[in-house]
Amino acid sequence: MRISVAPNKQLDDHTPGSVYLCQVKENVSCGACCGLYNVADASRNALESLLIQRTVLFADIPRDMDSILAFKTAVEAHENQQRPYPEFHHCPFIGFIDSSNSRVGCLLHPLNLKNNGIDFRGISYYGGMACRSYFCPTHYQVPMVYKEIVREVVDDWYLYGLIITEDKLLNAFFSLIAQKMGHPLKKEDILTHHRRVAAVQEFLKLKLNWPFRSQEIPEANYFFKDKLYSKPHLNGNETFANTSLFAPIFYELCSCFSSHNELIAAENILENIIFNIVGSDF
Ligand code: SF4
Ligand code: SF4
Repeated sequence: MRISVAPNKQLDDHTPGSVYLCQVKENVSCGACCGLYNVADASRNALESLLIQRTVLFADIPRDMDSILAFKTAVEAHENQQRPYPEFHHCPFIGFIDSSNSRVGCLLHPLNLKNNGIDFRGISYYGGMACRSYFCPTHYQVPMVYKEIVREVVDDWYLYGLIITEDKLLNAFFSLIAQKMGHPLKKEDILTHHRRVAAVQEFLKLKLNWPFRSQEIPEANYFFKDKLYSKPHLNGNETFANTSLFAPIFYELCSCFSSHNELIAAENILENIIFNIVGSDF
């Protein structure tokens, strides 16, 4: 819930892992730990519509406790309260914080212009301290260079919030790239080559369009340490999938293969992406 509208910072001594991931740039920010995707319909259109309605409604709410709490009550009465992960709180105060409705963030944040510098996050379920101090596992578990690359190449809030909490998926992918390159990855290895940027973008978008994703898995990623919801074991042609070079990536993408041919097709997708990054080294 480290939702802020702080200036874009590449490296930040106050952020665990030194790369600030919450508010990144125009169109790119995250609210996953506020439960952004833990909604009955987490499709892009449905979520965008929900956030716009809240943002518009909140704009005219007087900034006093009673009115803000009345806003919360109205939002919760109006919206479907079914949650894929019932134990994962969805905060009704997440909305859009820019004029073009392309940047998600906290409506209670003091830098929200209409809040006149007052921090209303203490009203929230977790309380202001948690909202200010929580950082998701990606901040701690993913090397700086991988985080910097993701920040740079993603240009869409919806994908960004879904992929940035996938710490193990990001580590599995980028460490494989580094292994194939034969040296630790530097961000310049990717960011200075259009073809490589496009290939990384293609990989990250698999979070949205992976054809072998189990249909039973919600869009939202449950990334808390209590591991209340684990990803499913690779099934279908389990033996083959588990021995694949790409098994860790398949697992993190919640894959389910119904035939050996599907597994081969999945491997081909990843091989093509990696070939476009490391070329003939692969
Ligand atoms: S899930 Fe992580 S990146 Fe996203 S807002 Fe929370 S702390 Fe920031
Ligand atoms: S008040 Fe809600 S939207 Fe704002 S940071 Fe806290 S949990 Fe996130």
